[in-house]
Amino acid sequence: MIQLSDRLLAMEESATIAMAKKSRELKALGMDIISLSLGEPDFYTPAFIKDAAKKALDDNYTMYTPVAGYDDLRESISLKFKRDNNLSYSKEQIVVSTGAKQSIANVVLSIINPGDEVIIPAPYWVSYLEIVKVAEGTPVVINAGLEKDFKITGDDLEKAITPKTKMLMFSTPCNPTGSVYTKEELADLARVLKKYPQIIALSDEIYEHINFIGKHESLAQFPEIYDQVVTVNGVSKAWAMTGWRLGYIGAPKTIALACDKVQGQFTSATCSITQKATISAMHADPSVLSDMISAFKKRRDLVLSLLGEIPGIKINNPDGAFYVFPDCSSFFGKEYNGTTISNSDQLCMYLLEEGLVALVGGEAFGDPNCFRISYAASEETLTKAMHRIKESLSKLT
Ligand code: PMP
Ligand code: GLU
Repeated sequence: MIQLSDRLLAMEESATIAMAKKSRELKALGMDIISLSLGEPDFYTPAFIKDAAKKALDDNYTMYTPVAGYDDLRESISLKFKRDNNLSYSKEQIVVSTGAKQSIANVVLSIINPGDEVIIPAPYWVSYLEIVKVAEGTPVVINAGLEKDFKITGDDLEKAITPKTKMLMFSTPCNPTGSVYTKEELADLARVLKKYPQIIALSDEIYEHINFIGKHESLAQFPEIYDQVVTVNGVSKAWAMTGWRLGYIGAPKTIALACDKVQGQFTSATCSITQKATISAMHADPSVLSDMISAFKKRRDLVLSLLGEIPGIKINNPDGAFYVFPDCSSFFGKEYNGTTISNSDQLCMYLLEEGLVALVGGEAFGDPNCFRISYAASEETLTKAMHRIKESLSKLT
């Protein structure tokens, strides 16, 4: 009999990926499912990036690359960090990986020992907790509720710090809440982090360009904590390149070297063609993304106004990313056909079966009172989905 490892058995399946898989299966059976489950732009990769990939192939960039990425790619990322974030990361501080997901796993495997505590503000992105568990770290979850726009303060952070705290991990703009930390809010976190130089803060900024309130603010901008911050980013979201698999970090050199070592044993490096294509994205002026960002903002406004018509739904005003994370707890205890709904996962299952809309329950994001809607879909699809949700919820008694 095959005996799987305790480490694997303790790990949850990715809820976002599980829901996307389920809705693909139901669609294949001919069901008219609207899937708003996966966080994936519904745009195609810009033509100039595809052209750069075709050229890379014709130029025979088909062999193993340096583990941390081609030199010219890392130089272009270094320029991007300076141009967009005013952050100085030399080429040696940058490691390119097979998606930001792997970047995060590399960092955690590099610095977490069994029993080290990692502070994760909830709601959090589904993979944070599981990656920490795989490294045998102890996730310490702090709840940042809807009434605080799902953000933590320096004081919240400080209350969770113990002698075992090794890391803080969060995203801004946030998946799943769309919340964006302001410069002042980040400065407040920096104020606390400075007092604990043993803590590394992983700031996941993969949605930096999908921000409706202006300039993105990076945690590493504060010189007093620059050496404690790992900035994670990637091309999946802004450049609609989810399938190409490229993420990267800007980090203190010691951590960059450690991630290079981990990756040298696990994946070698990400795809050579993807790397060459990404150089063109890094050199591009981010203003070319303005149409996509306006489209996301229009969709956000549409979804907020349609959800606003549903009695019992509470919601924040998300300033970035392409998710909303409504509180649906007023529906708990209600019934349909003799089945009682008692949490958001069950509500999502009901909305899938009754409304044919695939969403992701809040449990895997650390908040079982909410569910996540990805609004990376056309306005027509979103309107139809919101009506289905409204109608299905009205059937609960
Ligand atoms: N961080 C966050 C907050 C995400 O939502 C995602 C999912 N795309 C990732 C990291 C990983 O992105 P990728 O591996 O596609 O670069
Ligand atoms: N990050 C996206 C999401 O949250 C894609 C799926 C995944 O990588 O988990 O839905």
